[in-house]
Amino acid sequence: MTAIAHDTAGSAALHERARRSLPMGVTGDGRYSAPYPISFARAQGKWMHDVDGNAYVDYHGGFGTAVLGYAHPEVDEAVMSATREVGAFVGVPHPYEVALAERLCAVLPGAERVALCGGGGTDAIYHCVRLARAATGRPKLIKIEGGYHGWHGDVGASTRPSLNAAGDARHPATVPNSDGILPAVLAEVVVAPANDAEALEALFRAHADQIAGVLVEPVLYSAGCIEIDREFLDTARRLCDRDGALLIFDEVMSGFRNGLSGAGGRAGVVPDLGAYGKAVANGYMLSFLAGRAEVMTLLAPEGPVFYSGTFNGHPLSVAAALKTLDVRERDEVAPRLWHLGDRVAAGINAARDQLGVEAVCQAYGSVFCIYFGTRQVRDYRDYARTAGPDINALDDALRAFLRERGVYVHKRHVNRCFIGAQHDDADADHLVELVAEFLGAHREALAR
Ligand code: PMP
Repeated sequence: MTAIAHDTAGSAALHERARRSLPMGVTGDGRYSAPYPISFARAQGKWMHDVDGNAYVDYHGGFGTAVLGYAHPEVDEAVMSATREVGAFVGVPHPYEVALAERLCAVLPGAERVALCGGGGTDAIYHCVRLARAATGRPKLIKIEGGYHGWHGDVGASTRPSLNAAGDARHPATVPNSDGILPAVLAEVVVAPANDAEALEALFRAHADQIAGVLVEPVLYSAGCIEIDREFLDTARRLCDRDGALLIFDEVMSGFRNGLSGAGGRAGVVPDLGAYGKAVANGYMLSFLAGRAEVMTLLAPEGPVFYSGTFNGHPLSVAAALKTLDVRERDEVAPRLWHLGDRVAAGINAARDQLGVEAVCQAYGSVFCIYFGTRQVRDYRDYARTAGPDINALDDALRAFLRERGVYVHKRHVNRCFIGAQHDDADADHLVELVAEFLGAHREALAR
């Protein structure tokens, strides 16, 4: 546990107070960090200002939602304007949702229908899993070790299992990620290692005629930043086609983060269903699933799979999403995001080579992760093998070091960072310099 050195007394005091009315003083597991989380007062563009008046260049981006930066004036104005028209919410169909659905079908490969949800990626994933089971009449879901797909029990396994509990790397155990999930639910969850096409084939053989779907993040951002290779995605597509299972891409984090067609679109692999959220409305709450008409029309009231939710397709979020798409297309945001992510990773890895230390920055588009004690992370085990107390302490020390110098990085279990359209080359180069300084200062701890 690393103490926070610059003045964050206001955050400390607010946390003390918050602990008396909120679980651990926060509104979700990923918001806490020891010794207390930094509480923010204002955010604008790439800047985040904490309650003590410290300003940070921010690489948290609202858990990846703020792809255009915080408080984007045009997006916010679209929301204000919708508020003036409809207030907050009415709950009957409205023109905005049709306009958005048409645009989403146009940009997302394989999207013939979309189903808007209430806001959380969890909702969209839940529908995808249920649809896969309904469409196939089969029970089992294959998920990737280290992948996170929301907080509900159907996918509540092996997000961050201990290596002892996780067992055989090629046939991982299904390890619950929470108490309170029925064992019978998790008995239908089969866990596969990332980037191991042969292991996936073996799992299909072992559970022949039982697999409803394969759920994959095409970039495993849940474990930092691990690109799923083309061979694995192609194999998953082929096995699903062969056995009549559905391929589901969880693009909640990767979708709308870089290009508009998602990581699946970039890889050229089309899923049967995709789940999206986070960046689509630049921080306003919106999630949805999209996919083949034949499957999507199983949703009620067209089909027998229940689909509901009071705030589904909330008009204010839908207005935000439409404006976000406009701005992204007009300003050609995607190439800049890729450029900045590549620049950060190349700079950090060059510094690492010069110093001869054991660390790596992996980037895919605008998301990057700095891992210590290794030079390549291709699956959850590569990360977990290094993730002992020493490496955790280094992760924490890097975060504290950056904060003291006005850069905010948020840790979930790794230091994963999000670049937004408001960052520029100077930000990227400054970050590289700081990380290089940190690596130099911890040369011994990171010796090869
Ligand atoms: N899938 C992925 C890949 C995610 O990153 C997340 C959220 N971090 C979810 C699903 C769940 O989304 P939400 O928290 O919005 O319900």
